Amino acid sequence: MDPAEFREWGKKMVDFVADMWEGIPDRTPLPDVKPGYIQALVPPQAPNYPEKWQAVFDDLEKVVLSGVTWWHHPNFYAYFPTALSHHAIVADILSGGISAIGFTWKSCPSMTELELAVLDWLVSALGLPDHFRNSHPGPGCGIIQSTASDATLIAFFAARAKAVEEIKNSPTMLQSIQTEVGQKFKDLLGKSPFSGKKGAEQEGQHSSEIYLHPFHDPAVFDRLVAYCSDQAHSSVEKAAMLAGVRLRKLRSERDERYGNFSVTAATLEAAIKEDRAHGLHPFIFLLTMGTTNTCAIDPIRELATICNREKIWAHVDAAYAGGFLLCPEFRGMGDGLELVDSFNYNAHKTMMVNFDCSPLWLKDGKSAVKYFNVDPVYLKHEHQANTADYRHLQVALGRRFRSLKIWFVMRTFGIEKIQQYLRDGCAHAEVFSRLIAASLTFDLVVPRNLGLVCFRIKNASNEVNEELCNAINEDRRIHIVPSKVGEVYFLRLALCSQLTTEKHVRFAFDVISEVAQRTLDKMSLIGS
Ligand SMILES: *Cc1c(COP(=O)(O)O)cnc(C)c1O
Repeated sequence: MDPAEFREWGKKMVDFVADMWEGIPDRTPLPDVKPGYIQALVPPQAPNYPEKWQAVFDDLEKVVLSGVTWWHHPNFYAYFPTALSHHAIVADILSGGISAIGFTWKSCPSMTELELAVLDWLVSALGLPDHFRNSHPGPGCGIIQSTASDATLIAFFAARAKAVEEIKNSPTMLQSIQTEVGQKFKDLLGKSPFSGKKGAEQEGQHSSEIYLHPFHDPAVFDRLVAYCSDQAHSSVEKAAMLAGVRLRKLRSERDERYGNFSVTAATLEAAIKEDRAHGLHPFIFLLTMGTTNTCAIDPIRELATICNREKIWAHVDAAYAGGFLLCPEFRGMGDGLELVDSFNYNAHKTMMVNFDCSPLWLKDGKSAVKYFNVDPVYLKHEHQANTADYRHLQVALGRRFRSLKIWFVMRTFGIEKIQQYLRDGCAHAEVFSRLIAASLTFDLVVPRNLGLVCFRIKNASNEVNEELCNAINEDRRIHIVPSKVGEVYFLRLALCSQLTTEKHVRFAFDVISEVAQRTLDKMSLIGS
């Protein structure tokens, strides 16, 4: 492709995307395809010789668009939103055009420095603690991760290494753990290649070619236990699994503040006490601000205070709800954030920034860096002592120019416009929530929080509600997904699309009511 062709077909693609957007309301949120549909449309081998661009464009509707689930359809209410704006798409064109890999400052200075700058913008805009600022003289920092799952994994790895370091370096901690566990923990440490003995006589250390990092020593993290609420996202379970540590899911209870399912201080204290008595070392608590099931908020101040006292890393997963901190009226849910070790949210969920863009802030990024640092000669550069090298705080080496999306979106919308979008979503969710609360057929499962409404058919079994959910999605006029808390199955309506208006949520309620009536009639026929 020469520059002239790129100009022509690149512009055609922009037109194609703009047309596609205008046509979204004429589609249905769920596509009408069956698994494997593409086999009939795409040949098994790539072509040997170039095809015309026109031929590729001609295939787009048939092959690609016909199998898209339209997350931005006004009647799409499933999962949580994924953000989108023309502004962010334009930024992604530039990122793709520059196509540099900014793992170190030297490998692309503007990529590193713009990221440092816009994450500081976000600290102010979201009202986060000042010590998270990259420009703050302290050790705090912010970095854009790909996803909330990545951020959780980074928090797990950093907290795990910190715990191992503390245990190995602290005779008193070693002692206290040893007295509580008796010999077991001491034996484990005795086996660790870094616990005293040197050289080839250690177990697993018969060759100098074998290396184990002292702070990622499995002999120690065998005794570690992580905590989260039983409402935490599945990515927490995945992080614990991949980090090779135990996970204890703490029982959530209805709280007074939101009438939703969060973990209490008493539950956390009891778990710590019990686990310590059994020789385990609690090292991280994954708090959730805005759970996926019901948008519950763990009480950050109470829980993080305990974590600080007990030297447990407090990480807040605010993937969905975090963006709402942009509006001062929602900041109450972030009360206590100055106490946490790390905080993450998905700008790609609620802040008009296309996937992927998940800012993570660390209270002490400087220390965390050493747990991820590997330093081959080819990555060294003359400024590394005085600049940020983001490769030290992520799993991958390479990274994209994601800060462009935040920069474009915040500049060309302004904070006010994004606040308005968030408030509108909540207002529409409130309309739907009131319709549910006033209906004779349905009940709210928890009070609406932000843009999420959880509901079910009153006095009906899980089976009936499951039947309703399936029937709604088979009907295909709207799309929602179910969830479960404890033994209670329910339906979730999440405000997702920027195209959704009050008219659409009223339509959703009418569709749900109509399908519910049909479902109830059918079930009573089956029952009789
Ligand atoms: C969406 C979500 C996640 C997962 O987000 P990814 O960025 O896709 O990893 C994690 N936690 C919560 C609370 C979420 O809502």
